[in-house]
Amino acid sequence: MSEVKKVLMSPQGPSFSELIQGYWRLASWEMTAQQRLSFLSEHIELGITTVDNAAIYGNSEVLFGEALKLNPSIRNEIEIVSKFGINGIPSSPEERRVSHYDSSKEAILTSAENSLKRLNTDYLDALLVHRPDFLMDADQVADAFSELKQSGKVKHFGVSNFTTSQFDLLQSRLDFSLMTNQVEINPVNLVVLEDGTTDQLQQYRVRPMAWSCLAGGRIFFDNTEQMQRLRKTLIELMVEMDATSIEQVIFAWVLKHPSNPVALIGSGKISRVKQAVEALSLSMTTEQWYRIWVASKGCPVP
Ligand code: NAP
Repeated sequence: MSEVKKVLMSPQGPSFSELIQGYWRLASWEMTAQQRLSFLSEHIELGITTVDNAAIYGNSEVLFGEALKLNPSIRNEIEIVSKFGINGIPSSPEERRVSHYDSSKEAILTSAENSLKRLNTDYLDALLVHRPDFLMDADQVADAFSELKQSGKVKHFGVSNFTTSQFDLLQSRLDFSLMTNQVEINPVNLVVLEDGTTDQLQQYRVRPMAWSCLAGGRIFFDNTEQMQRLRKTLIELMVEMDATSIEQVIFAWVLKHPSNPVALIGSGKISRVKQAVEALSLSMTTEQWYRIWVASKGCPVP
């Protein structure tokens, strides 16, 4: 089995595993607390020590926290990332009428406290702004981050789905560096490779956290022309690269990018997590990388 290394996310840290287990879909895995703990222990054993969660992921922070409670000593072996800022589907019409973003200082402090309680932990290794808030007041976010850092409740901070200007704006108010921009990177969606997002991260030596590397599973079953082209190319490359599945080829494609992404895994099946780990030892040529780009676009490079 390939070795999953710890890597520095930004010049000021933290060190996270180069593959990160995503827990967005945890509720749909329908596992008992003991099964959740076993899954966690198994991916730690593989070297995947960093886990990704969010306040908006329904019950998944609670379910994760229940598993951690069964063996609290595991907390010292993992790094927990959570996200805040989306006030989701209204729980009662009186409370709010639409889903919306809130990155006020009060909302950040409350959300972080609630995540800590749900996750059964007294600190987060990283807290990210989940989505850019059109009403984001960078001074308020910076104030909340400083307070959480000083209290020891959160060690590092980052953002998710931010544009380059939103990233720079928030960074300009902080006296420590943002540790990531968690963004969608997969062969179906090339936007962040084209709009300057990954250039900026490479410039600052901040690693992206790549979410939905497998396009949320759509790459396996959607029948659009783009998906059909991609599947054909991925299968050819799987044979050429001596990989055992097309998801391995996709993980190798994501990890080859020079912004040095760490890749989030979305599957709750340990066999598929192991497939991702094996992808770390695959090597992909530049020409092979571009064959996926060309299959995605449906045209040659200009
Ligand atoms: P993904 O890897 O793109 O998709 C995972 C889905 O693909 C699962 O439903 C999985 O099903 C399915 N799948 C995997 N391999 C398959 C195969 N060989 N055949 C058929 N289906 C397969 O990842 P994701 O769950 O969308 O995202 C990963 C993590 O990124 C999330 O857990 C979350 O932490 C994070 N995320 C962040 C944001 C953000 O805005 N910051 C947004 C989305 C996600 P099985 O479980 O059955 O394997």
